[in-house]
Amino acid sequence: MNAVSAPAFNPSLALTLVFAATLLLGLALKFWLATRQVRHVAQHRASVPAAFAHTLSLAAHQKAADYTVTKVRFGLLETAVGAALLLGWTLLGGLDTLNQALLAWLGGGMPQQLALIAGFVLIGGLIELPLTLYQTFVIEQRFGFNKMTLKLWLGDLVKSTLMGMVIGLPIVVLILWLMGAAGSTWWIWAWSALVAYSLFVMWIAPVFIMPFFNKFTPLADEILKTRITTLMQRCGFSAKGLFVMDGSRRSAHANAFFTGFGTNKRVVFFDTLLAKLSHSEMEAVLAHELGHFKHHHILKRLAISFSISLAGFALLGWLAQQAWFYTGLGVTPSLQLLVPALDASQAMPNDALALLLFMLVVPIFSFFITPLLSLSSRQHEFEADAYAAQQADAHDLSRALLKLYEDNASTLTPDPLYVAFYYSHPPASQRLARLGLA
Ligand SMILES: [Zn+2]
Repeated sequence: MNAVSAPAFNPSLALTLVFAATLLLGLALKFWLATRQVRHVAQHRASVPAAFAHTLSLAAHQKAADYTVTKVRFGLLETAVGAALLLGWTLLGGLDTLNQALLAWLGGGMPQQLALIAGFVLIGGLIELPLTLYQTFVIEQRFGFNKMTLKLWLGDLVKSTLMGMVIGLPIVVLILWLMGAAGSTWWIWAWSALVAYSLFVMWIAPVFIMPFFNKFTPLADEILKTRITTLMQRCGFSAKGLFVMDGSRRSAHANAFFTGFGTNKRVVFFDTLLAKLSHSEMEAVLAHELGHFKHHHILKRLAISFSISLAGFALLGWLAQQAWFYTGLGVTPSLQLLVPALDASQAMPNDALALLLFMLVVPIFSFFITPLLSLSSRQHEFEADAYAAQQADAHDLSRALLKLYEDNASTLTPDPLYVAFYYSHPPASQRLARLGLA
């Protein structure tokens, strides 16, 4: 008999193949969806949809079409760059090279691990910088949205880098330390620390982070203030203040939001929004935001994202111990994992490596649950709209929505499948239809 034994299962090779196949599948899906969206928007560019013929000019409709198409095409470029970068870090050996170089220089301790993470963030940031510049100073500029000067942009870059270091460093050090010191259940501790830290950062954000980037002035318009305060009392909502943010320094896009929680909760209006909406429309927009609060959407979203991150940490807790997790993604882990017989004194931590690989690879797989998250988000928008229609005037809300969609150049004729996959907010036509107004 011919003694040909079946080839042994090679988990490292299997991971490489699954990773590459999933990456390709995701790219194909993204490209297909983008093509559909571009085609659909272009096909409906010639005339304003009948339902909006009286409210939207042809010029505004075509601007929205062109802006949408431009952004989708740019998104594809970003996707391509992202995929190339991902392959560069993993299978083409970028992360391994950086890791080996830093090991040779710093040895295998905490400084090396921090340097690895810092180097990774820095290199990725530098490669993506031209894309951000192009988006702001070419695309947003062309459509009249950009209000930033290069000086302001550079100032933001310096500030957000420093802020990222101040906020990110403590939690990264803590997680790396827990990975090394807390034994096999490190991931529960790390997750708990991350949750607590995220809540803390959200709590201090309105007071200690956001003022570095924008000016917040108390809302001065007394009539509007009375109106809004009455609405908030009616809805049983207490906030620490009403603020106007100088959003117009950077962009013509308009928005309103709640920020912080507990004792730091506040309502923030972009100055661009105040300039565009009437008082009753402002009231309707705020009632919509209060609807999110009433339906506990923010809490639900937090709960979902914390649950997903718990599952992620649990998975990483296991993966970080598997040699194939590293080798299958183009990285050589420390000898301890490859040769378990070696004694522990020769072990060097793979923790930063494991974290980075995990963060790189997870989005490839989690991309496929995007439609679920988008669906839930659109559901929340409908619920908030319904609440606003009860607490304020549905016609005011619809007028405000149309102004906002027009000002943000959101197309009224997106591809339905593209909407189902990506849109966090339903298209204007669907929202007005739900309000019984279209
Ligand atoms: Zn909303």
